[in-house]
Amino acid sequence: MIHISVTKDLFDNILKTKEKIVEKKVTNYWKKELLDIAIIEDKIHYNIKKVERISISNGLGDEKPSLVVECTKIDYNTKKNIFEFHIGRIIEKKNILIEDDYKDSLIQQLLKEKEILQDSMHRDHLTNLYNRRKMEEDLNAFIGQNNAKFLTAIFVDADRFKGINDNFGHDVGDRVLKSIANKLNRHANRLNGEAYRYGGEEFIMLCFMPQESLLQGLEYLKNEIQADRILHDTKDISVTVSMGVSFWKNHVSIEKFIKSADDCVYMAKKNGRNLIEVAYN
Ligand code: GH3
Ligand code: MG
Ligand code: MG
Repeated sequence: MIHISVTKDLFDNILKTKEKIVEKKVTNYWKKELLDIAIIEDKIHYNIKKVERISISNGLGDEKPSLVVECTKIDYNTKKNIFEFHIGRIIEKKNILIEDDYKDSLIQQLLKEKEILQDSMHRDHLTNLYNRRKMEEDLNAFIGQNNAKFLTAIFVDADRFKGINDNFGHDVGDRVLKSIANKLNRHANRLNGEAYRYGGEEFIMLCFMPQESLLQGLEYLKNEIQADRILHDTKDISVTVSMGVSFWKNHVSIEKFIKSADDCVYMAKKNGRNLIEVAYN
């Protein structure tokens, strides 16, 4: 490994990967370090040695900032009479004090990565809807809001979904779930709420809407799902859903609020499916 000492500005630029080449005047020292000299048939031949790594430092003493970087090549620039060291990836950093603006950009980058990670923890991979974990977090927040008196839970369960898997295969089942999810998401926006995949072929919507317009909106959603056809080689597929509706104003616990919507789904199934059952109290 060879050692190069550079100015503070150049060192900072290399650290921020803004500078990819370090230049050094061709002195006797660098000639000795870098050139292999051979005499072949009375002629002197120079070869630049292969260097894998360079240690780059700024300042003096044991505590001086330094880097170990990959050296991708070394050129001899005849016009300027300099050696050009081409820098690859940074392998090691020592005694680096991070400047405030660089620190800020690092923090921004970390926060962004955290946000992306958090969002992926909150999403269901198949449908890209929010998942049950996010629903539970949101629900805890929603019941504390001023508009909680309008909070409604809508439990949505695909009807005879197992039959779709059994007849057409799991992949087609997945496409049907995605199609239902898209509609729930679009309608949840219209109904001032959010749609979540609760698990399997079950979904929940949490909406803030006065009762009458909400129930009208759900009827519209149910009919839209029923009318849709999912294209398939042998037979276009249709699906229906059963829904159960429960109002937060009738409850004091989240568990009973959700269970009440789930009980309504059970009623809808019992009464023939493709129905909306409402818990009015
Ligand atoms: P019901 O009308 O009574 O709700 O009948 P159902 O067939 O919809 O209900 P059941 O609970 O018997 O079956 C649900 C099926 O959903 C079983 C399971 O294999 C399927 N399922 C759950 N998650 C997924 C998934 O991610 N993809 C696919 N393709 N199927 C799934
Ligand atoms: Mg189910
Ligand atoms: Mg079902």
